[in-house]
Amino acid sequence: SGTLYIVATPIGNLQDITQRALAIFSQVDLIAAEDTRHSGLLLSHYGIKKPFFALHDHNEQQKADVLVEKLQQGSNIALISDAGTPLISDPGFHLVRKCRQADIKVVPLPGACAAITALCASGIASDRFCFEGFLPAKSKARRDKLENLSEEDRTLIFYESTHRILDTLADIEMLMGAERYVVLAREITKTWETICGDQVGNLLKWLAQDNNRTKGEMVLIIEGKPKLETEQWDPKAIKALQLISQELP
Ligand code: SAM
Repeated sequence: SGTLYIVATPIGNLQDITQRALAIFSQVDLIAAEDTRHSGLLLSHYGIKKPFFALHDHNEQQKADVLVEKLQQGSNIALISDAGTPLISDPGFHLVRKCRQADIKVVPLPGACAAITALCASGIASDRFCFEGFLPAKSKARRDKLENLSEEDRTLIFYESTHRILDTLADIEMLMGAERYVVLAREITKTWETICGDQVGNLLKWLAQDNNRTKGEMVLIIEGKPKLETEQWDPKAIKALQLISQELP
């Protein structure tokens, strides 16, 4: 059978395509994409013309079966999304799962991913992090989610939209405190790239002053809950102090 290639594409700057991605595009028989018109324009920029196959979030389960059949018949297929890495808040999971179950070779081609790119420039701890994708659109569900995450000590990464960012930051301020440090990475790799960080209370005030500050595509990064000073102490030292204090007058 053929091979399924999972190919990352740029998140703004068209130079962020890899040489390997371009080589695979010219080799495959078919390119599976979310928005075939959008992807057609992207690939024509690189001088590539290939048949497309539409794979959306809402039809992925059925369309994946068609693609698996094509792969079994020997076609080589590249999966791309509108931007960045497929499967990361984008379609592809069902297809990859079905391919692996059917013993079809899946080859990933790494490249741009907005979450990782933003994290790298955020100045927030990058050794341990949780990627949470998009928060729920409804405010009750969003608050519940943020409340559940409020004690998390790992860095939190979200995708957020221009329409909801101020509400989300207000919820973070309410549920995690005005002092929680956050970074908003906007329009990464594009002309108006801005990466700004502050305590959420301050950032919210600053963003609310000017519509332009919340335009475009954005990644929101929240510092994990800082450990209380006592939690950082060595448990053995705490035990020793307790023992000593019992002996003190
Ligand atoms: N699969 C993509 C990836 O690997 O990053 C993400 C797809 S998701 C549907 C789109 C969201 O990613 C946007 O709403 C935004 O939150 C984030 N995003 C994509 N491109 C971005 C960019 N250039 N700057 C900031 N955020 C971006």
